[in-house]
Amino acid sequence: MSKTWRPATQLVHGGTLRSQYGETSEAIYLTQGFVYDTSEAAEARFKGETDGYIYARYGSPTNDMFEKRMCMLEGAEDARATASGMAAVSAAILCQVKAGDHIVAARALFGSCRWVVETLAPKYGIECTLVDGRDLKNWEEAIRPNTKVFFLESPTNPTLEVVDIAGVARLANQVGAKVVVDNVFATPLFQKPLELGAHIVVYSATKHIDGQGRCLGGVVLADKAWIDENLHDYFRHTGPAMSPFNAWTLLKGIETLPLRVRQQTQNAAKIADFLAEQNKVAKVIYPGREDHPQADIIARQMTGGSTLVAFELKGGKEAAFALQNALDIIKISNNLGDSKSLITHPATTTHKNLTEEARAELGISPGTVRLSAGIEDTDDLIEDFAKALARVSA
Ligand SMILES: *Cc1c(COP(=O)(O)O)cnc(C)c1O
Repeated sequence: MSKTWRPATQLVHGGTLRSQYGETSEAIYLTQGFVYDTSEAAEARFKGETDGYIYARYGSPTNDMFEKRMCMLEGAEDARATASGMAAVSAAILCQVKAGDHIVAARALFGSCRWVVETLAPKYGIECTLVDGRDLKNWEEAIRPNTKVFFLESPTNPTLEVVDIAGVARLANQVGAKVVVDNVFATPLFQKPLELGAHIVVYSATKHIDGQGRCLGGVVLADKAWIDENLHDYFRHTGPAMSPFNAWTLLKGIETLPLRVRQQTQNAAKIADFLAEQNKVAKVIYPGREDHPQADIIARQMTGGSTLVAFELKGGKEAAFALQNALDIIKISNNLGDSKSLITHPATTTHKNLTEEARAELGISPGTVRLSAGIEDTDDLIEDFAKALARVSA
């Protein structure tokens, strides 16, 4: 395995463990356990004197392939594959804190991520401060002597705000805290949090990595020492392991990640430009456009735009519903990263549990709509929007 391979090659060949049968496609090792030739071999395996698998909750060959391939892509030393993105997020955060510790998190987080730090962690005596992550000053002011973890996502869901990852990492390093970045929206292709100074990266592999709407998955990536000290035992004994079947599905998904993300991003960029010119649209937020409020940070830390577009309709909720209902190719769904274009109205779905004020803080208005661009033909998608917008009353 060559570390010098470029991403597209790593994603097809990286981490492959070929069995004695020489199969082309990665094998699915759908087994719970492993057998040992002798009692002595079992003893040595348990003592860690010999390499090998013990139990699928700890690790297994198909999952290993997925983890190794993700490590190559991310430039990480080690990883653990988890059953879902939320299993990855909660493990990455909870494995490294104890009662009395403090977390600083950006308030613009995926709903369940926000619940973990805002609602769950305090139940165990872990304090949390939520900040407007766009301004580094807010991160700095939130630091306390017991701050252990900084947690953010960038770009954020659904309004595609960005956080200066290198800036947050500098602040964290000054106080010995660890930065956890949920990199789902950027994808591993467009943003490398570890290179920007973050310590831990998490993904919901459910999104672009599967990319075809099939199975849940997640992954935590970091340096080996951090994983050994923090995640290793937590992962073994709390049981968030990914199913080997899902690891196999995700290995197949990841082979085409660059092809899909390139087409999705191209579609998203063209749709963003199209929407920006429509008079029923109040504003468009797209990380690839020069009018993005944080275009300077995006230029520094991202190498591509986004597969997502956020926009606001002048006619509020009524217009948003009318638009979504009139779309034909683009489906109404709260999921994202899929090869099918999906659209959602955050205020009544993904962010319905927040108060009106909390939504306003995040820039979510009744007219806000989020599009996850698929891999369909660009012109068909634009025609779908044009036809649907015509049916929205002004
Ligand atoms: C979907 C998502 C998650 C959670 O992932 P699941 O696989 O659904 O558990 C976490 N963070 C972000 C940004 C997401 O989009």
